[in-house]
Amino acid sequence: MYEIAIVGAGPAGATLARLLAKDYKVLLLDKRSLDVTYTGSLIAKSCGGLIAPDAQKMLARMGLALPQDVLVSPQIFAVRTIDMDNNLEKFYQRFYFNMDREKFDRWLVSLMPDSIHCMFGCQFKSYEQGADGTIKLKFLKDKAVKEERTRILVGADGAHSLVRKQALPGQKIPNKYISPQAWFSSDRLLPYFTAIFDREITDYYSWIIPKQGYLLVGTAVEPGGDVGAKFSLLCEKIRQYGINLDKKVKKEGAFILRPTGANQINTGMSKIALIGEAAGWISPSSAEGLSYAFKSASYLARAIRQNQGDFLDTYSKLSAPLKRNIILKNIKSPFMYNRHLRKWVMSAGIQTMDIDPS
Ligand SMILES: Cc1cc2nc3c(=O)[nH]c(=O)nc-3n(C[C@H](O)[C@H](O)[C@H](O)COP(=O)(O)OP(=O)(O)OC[C@H]3O[C@@H](n4cnc5c(N)ncnc54)[C@H](O)[C@@H]3O)c2cc1C
Repeated sequence: MYEIAIVGAGPAGATLARLLAKDYKVLLLDKRSLDVTYTGSLIAKSCGGLIAPDAQKMLARMGLALPQDVLVSPQIFAVRTIDMDNNLEKFYQRFYFNMDREKFDRWLVSLMPDSIHCMFGCQFKSYEQGADGTIKLKFLKDKAVKEERTRILVGADGAHSLVRKQALPGQKIPNKYISPQAWFSSDRLLPYFTAIFDREITDYYSWIIPKQGYLLVGTAVEPGGDVGAKFSLLCEKIRQYGINLDKKVKKEGAFILRPTGANQINTGMSKIALIGEAAGWISPSSAEGLSYAFKSASYLARAIRQNQGDFLDTYSKLSAPLKRNIILKNIKSPFMYNRHLRKWVMSAGIQTMDIDPS
């Protein structure tokens, strides 16, 4: 019997496990094989792999410094913003770390003490709440159904969380976008991250990220339309900017949540807590999710330590600043996503920078 079982060993789950390791008997379960070096044949987390300043600050607060082998070339200090709706283009200074997401997640897992019981290659299926208040979780390992018991269950299983689906059926969740992303072989290292706004593709945004001999092209589109056709159109439009996308190496996909209000955040119910994107914690304006994963994990760890009886209430109170942050980002969003306001902001040149073409 575990005191805490965490489904999902991404940034949220791995962080929570590490923070609780000393004082609790913890099970950490993930369908990915995070205990072995990543090769192309394993399940991967689709991600842009940019660590934004808020996530850097959280790493610093947790006393963590990034090992060099997690970083990938190039390190980029500017965002090229292409507004295809208004035919405008501007550069902005930004401070990201460009990293290899699979290595990053493995590094987070490697920080955990041996006292944590990690089970990788295990796919969570469902749970049952027993009359004695304990929770039985069922998962697939090597095609066989296995079971474990726990007092607290934590869903850290990302945007498409099965734990959330079962714990809170019919609850409001953030808008769910489908995010196709393709890797194109490229010997041209673009010295910036490109953000593209084009309503023909999406009401959110698309991106190009240079990464170690590849260009990652991705977008987040609302479900329902022809996602493949929109992605092809995006690539066609990018080619018109002289960017070569001939050699596609792989294509991946994932869901991205976009909370339009704090009432779409679900922190859990009874003895089941949700953290990271499973709870809806992600920036609704930039889709930056790493800082939210770290913050929500640290709030829940503190809540469990402070008040194991009613830890969910404490977690909800501790995460109030994060809810306010999501409200604020939604207030600012129209300046990025309303084409008229964006035209005004970009034309005014607010916080833009000049890039020397030579
Ligand atoms: C295309 C794309 C690009 C992005 N780019 C960035 C970026 O550059 N910077 C940034 O800050 N954020 C980015 N994000 C958002 C960021 O990736 C997420 O918000 C962040 O990873 C959330 O962390 P998490 O730990 O909550 O969930 P996840 O990282 O999604 O981890 C969930 C874990 O749960 C596991 N899991 C899921 N279901 C099950 C199951 N049934 N059984 C067992 N295990 C399960 C998964 O394998 C995974 O390891 C991007 C998202 C997408 C989709």
